[in-house]
Amino acid sequence: MEYRMLIGGEAVAAKSGETFESVNPYDQQPWARVPRAGPEDVDTAVAAAREAFTTGPWPRLTPTERGRLLRNLGDLVASHAEELATLETRDNGKLYSEMLTQLRYIPQWYYYFGGLADKIEGMVHPVDKPDIFNFSHHEPYGVVAAITAWNSPLLLAAYKLAPALAAGNTVVLKPSEHASCSTLRFAELFALAGFPPGVVNVISGFGPEIGDALTGHPDVAKITFTGSATTGRRINAVAGQDFKSVTLELGGKSPNIVFADADLDNAANGAIAGILAASGQTCVAGSRLLVEDSIHDAFLERVVAIARTARSGDPMDPATNIGPVATKAQYDKIRGYLEIAEAEGAERVLGGTPDPDPAIGKGWFIEPTIYANVTNAMRIAREEVFGPVLSVIRFRDEDEAVHIANDTRYGLAAGIWSQNLKRCIELPKRLRAGTVWVNTYRAVSYMTPFGGFKASGTGKENGIEAIRQYLQLKSVWLSTADSFSNPFTIR
Ligand code: NDP
Repeated sequence: MEYRMLIGGEAVAAKSGETFESVNPYDQQPWARVPRAGPEDVDTAVAAAREAFTTGPWPRLTPTERGRLLRNLGDLVASHAEELATLETRDNGKLYSEMLTQLRYIPQWYYYFGGLADKIEGMVHPVDKPDIFNFSHHEPYGVVAAITAWNSPLLLAAYKLAPALAAGNTVVLKPSEHASCSTLRFAELFALAGFPPGVVNVISGFGPEIGDALTGHPDVAKITFTGSATTGRRINAVAGQDFKSVTLELGGKSPNIVFADADLDNAANGAIAGILAASGQTCVAGSRLLVEDSIHDAFLERVVAIARTARSGDPMDPATNIGPVATKAQYDKIRGYLEIAEAEGAERVLGGTPDPDPAIGKGWFIEPTIYANVTNAMRIAREEVFGPVLSVIRFRDEDEAVHIANDTRYGLAAGIWSQNLKRCIELPKRLRAGTVWVNTYRAVSYMTPFGGFKASGTGKENGIEAIRQYLQLKSVWLSTADSFSNPFTIR
């Protein structure tokens, strides 16, 4: 397969003609070639987006018309769900069943924000000045740079594109070099949905090569990013030079807290969902399992028993539970953490063997791995592993659980398992995380705000608030006074 980028409505190669290979993590075979954009392609894409924002038909469309185009796009994603999910699985090795579930849900973002496009109302202010009519309204920023991670390319793109376009911006979207193909194929749907050329541009390439050119481009007014804290910090620094608005969705080290009064069958499934879903490659992975002392050993046994049943294999096979991790670099990084955990004295109770069973296939497989007797000071409990590696930490009581849960630089998500109603209501308030799940885990919706506290990011995606991330508020003062006298005093 040979893919093209989308710039100004045209399917294009990189100006340099350079490409790179996409490698299937399951068989380690290259299966597609992708344009390797350079800074000159960034310039062309931003210019196309800028022109579409200022002079094209896009700024003249009513919000209702923009909403209709978004709903068309949602329909097209729905009718291409199987194809797009297959591309994502080939690119990032995640289970086809997971990617297909995502793809079937993604249209809701385009329907929801399409519906929201014409419901953003301004306000008339009853200002305390005579002869003044004063109002404020929301305006789009202009060109938005949207940068996504490899683990859920089109879901993360939907989080960004749907509100950005509903608000009237134009976009340059850059997927990860590790999983670009579904986004490049998705780019072909914009013209079919009726979007004017240049409203959405998609460029592929290596973040370290073109990232700064994109985020630092003077015509990019707003940046929305999902990825690691390291890259987020870099983007913040570059964007800060021009005081650009940024939304950053970064990593996590989320605590999943199990109390003795929980439904332990559900909690054990919740613990597994938190760490083995997507082979642990999710930002919200419940990678720290906090277990109350009195049930610790019995609960650990339950979790290990379920994890043992998880079947690794071909991510296209519906019977597979654990696919390979996405890249060789990710595989090496996770293996490095297994060594660190052993050296730190964590007690391995499952997995952790360096080489996968050859019968699974030759992909980058990491066995589900569980460490007990982890302390929150260990690196395995503090750093994001992004793999199927669980750290189990004991706690004595609720106060200690809260202390351990919050003792992290991250604040993306947290889980609580308990049947005590008071605790279920009160405890979420004490956790410094943007999302708290109680007796469930890893649920998302287009309707519900999502985003991290602390080093997990800034700004929110999803829900009504998300559209405000792509709008700036303007106040307008109209005077009906007959005279404008005394120019030397504030009014
Ligand atoms: P990276 O930060 O490495 O990459 C994310 C994106 O940024 C990629 O498109 C990458 O391109 C690009 N990029 C790299 N360097 C730059 C730069 N200097 N300027 C601009 N863009 C750049 O993250 P990963 O791909 O490793 O993704 C995993 C991380 O994402 C984890 O930390 C995870 O927790 C987080 N994540 C957060 C989510 C959230 O909603 N909070 C959801 C999903 C993941 P390229 O790949 O080409 O280098």
